[in-house]
Amino acid sequence: ASTPKYLTGDTAAINEFIDRFDTFLFDCDGVLWSGDHLFEGIVETLDFLRSKGKKVVFVTNNSTKSRQDYQKKLTNLGIPSEVDEIFASAYSSAIYISRILKLPVGKNKVFVLGESGIESELATENVPFLGGTDPALRRDITQADFDALADGSALDPEVGCVLAGLDFHVNYLKLSTAYQYLARGATFLATNTDSTFPTSHSFFPGAGSISVPLINMTGQKPIALGKPSQAMMDAIEGKFQLDRARTCMVGDRLNTDIQFGIEGGLGGTLAVLSGVCKKEEWEAEDAPFRPAYYADKLSDLRAAKQ
Ligand code: PLP
Ligand code: CA
Repeated sequence: ASTPKYLTGDTAAINEFIDRFDTFLFDCDGVLWSGDHLFEGIVETLDFLRSKGKKVVFVTNNSTKSRQDYQKKLTNLGIPSEVDEIFASAYSSAIYISRILKLPVGKNKVFVLGESGIESELATENVPFLGGTDPALRRDITQADFDALADGSALDPEVGCVLAGLDFHVNYLKLSTAYQYLARGATFLATNTDSTFPTSHSFFPGAGSISVPLINMTGQKPIALGKPSQAMMDAIEGKFQLDRARTCMVGDRLNTDIQFGIEGGLGGTLAVLSGVCKKEEWEAEDAPFRPAYYADKLSDLRAAKQ
């Protein structure tokens, strides 16, 4: 791949960049904000792109929130948005299950490892589920649980799928239950495979680290729905009818966002240095992914002719 083009401070290059695309897919954390801190100039930059007729879509791997939750987050940070502009991995998982997986009647329930955002997206898609935030599973495992899981009496015979996202109450009972469903042939899905996620001060275990014990137990890999999975790109394309050649993915991680855009055959990818990745990562000779463009931060695009 060729050397990424640096856009910061280069007005001609920025204008050319913006003209090449009709749609911008924005990763959120690290691009628009960090934790709860909105980066300077983001609202103006998004307004500027919208005023030029560009479509913007917010694409996040955060599986704990529904699109409505995410819109609230955007609103609280001062970013105007519509629910329909938001594509989060909980939503992507729910539509994958309801529209692509199409579980047969009698095997159509989903056992969830995850938070309420996943539950509300499944409910919106009329997918029956159990597990999730159910308080009955937030306890230590007992001998009676071992027995009832082993003989199947604690299991719902209609479960045909296990969906693993970030679960802040993960425990041995939930993992054992998920394992028993998988051992009986349930389809294994993961909202996303991020090993960690960033907070303002440090990294913490991500959704990808919740599914690892299940991968270890079953020897099976889940179908993952978040970036860089192309299942997510196909779902985005289906929903927004976008022209991939005139779409640019903007992100702060090479092995999620930039890989997602490159493997999706998008017209371009832009890496910003306001989040996780440093430019040394793609300057390395064996770098697996290189963005087509990079900038110090997203608001550098405002230097373009208004
Ligand atoms: N997963 C969780 C739980 C998160 O909180 C975040 C970021 O806040 C992410 C994943 C990564 O999100 P994004 O794809 O927007 O960078
Ligand atoms: Ca990010």
